[in-house]
Amino acid sequence: MTLRLSRSIVGQAEADAVSRVLLDDGYLGMGNEVRLFEEELAAFLGVEPWQIITVNTGTAALHLAVDAAAESGRGEVLVPSLTFVASFQAVTAAGCAPVACDVLPETGTIDLRDAEKRLTAKTFAIMPVDYASNPWHLDEVYDFARRKGLRVVEDAAHAFGCRHHGRKIGGFGDLVCFSFDGIKNITSGEGGCIVAFDRRTANLASDARLLSVEKDAGRRFAGERSWDPDVKRQGYRYHMSNIMAAVGRVQLSRLETEFAPARQRLSSLYARLIGDFPHAALLRSDPEDDIVPHILPVRILDGRKDMVKEALAGEGIPTGMHYKPNHLLSFFKSEPLPATEQLYAELVTLPLHPGLNDADVARVCACLGRALRSG
Ligand SMILES: *Cc1c(COP(=O)(O)O)cnc(C)c1O
Repeated sequence: MTLRLSRSIVGQAEADAVSRVLLDDGYLGMGNEVRLFEEELAAFLGVEPWQIITVNTGTAALHLAVDAAAESGRGEVLVPSLTFVASFQAVTAAGCAPVACDVLPETGTIDLRDAEKRLTAKTFAIMPVDYASNPWHLDEVYDFARRKGLRVVEDAAHAFGCRHHGRKIGGFGDLVCFSFDGIKNITSGEGGCIVAFDRRTANLASDARLLSVEKDAGRRFAGERSWDPDVKRQGYRYHMSNIMAAVGRVQLSRLETEFAPARQRLSSLYARLIGDFPHAALLRSDPEDDIVPHILPVRILDGRKDMVKEALAGEGIPTGMHYKPNHLLSFFKSEPLPATEQLYAELVTLPLHPGLNDADVARVCACLGRALRSG
């Protein structure tokens, strides 16, 4: 039986919701279904519906958030190098410069001491990434941003459904961006959203997703269009469709009953089994955080990473690497970042999705244990 590293968990309920939109509704674009998804996301996060701006990818959410935050001029954004290239691309797409920062070796999240050294007169924002769904010291990131006068654009692509010190990610902050791509904690096929905490930025981002036609989203939600609009800024076609929202609504209803408990059960089992393996270390997390893990990266120490990957591949177990550091990519090249590069040499991502069972995890760990003890 072949294991998958990750997969979309969708079924009849999502198929029924999509057919309802296709066959009964007659409007596939951004309309009532998107409005309902935004209202349900707002209720889930404990915010107001105007704060939720759905878009067609998580990358688009980050792009629009940086774009809106940079309103008063372009500049530099502090970003941890250990992230999906989407974080960096979103910053350059907005005409800004990503400044690669080092991460903490125990968590893979941004190292604020390193970030502080990279502040310049042009820095206007920081983009923390909840690496492997871990909010870690997010409160400190917000304190840092307040002290330095920065906007915070959270790349919370991994962290939908997580809590930091009792509060839901996306339930507080400045600009919080989620991804609903096929393998994230919930999916809408592709998709994402921004949660904004001030009206001005929310309006800018909401309009920018629809070519910056002023207040167009509200009219579309009411089944109307803007026939005499004004446009004052660059905009994009980044809105979500009713088809995507139909999938997202079902997925949201399944998160707390199915997906979150499954991801948490499987990751605790991994932690228990890997806990005392030699040459392996799990990333650290804060016991006061409630994590719904999107991926399961493990540090393989003492130069054994390649050997372990080969041993697992030999038994049909796929592994991944989250992520090749962005400062090592040609387009974003910058100076060495020691902790990030150390993690790059160690991290191996093991299979994790709600379609796995305990026996699958036990098989992966047995194979990993054998490889680590023999190497
Ligand atoms: C998935 C992801 C994104 C981008 O989301 P998409 O919906 O795939 O565009 C951004 N950052 C991180 C860390 C991600 O994992």
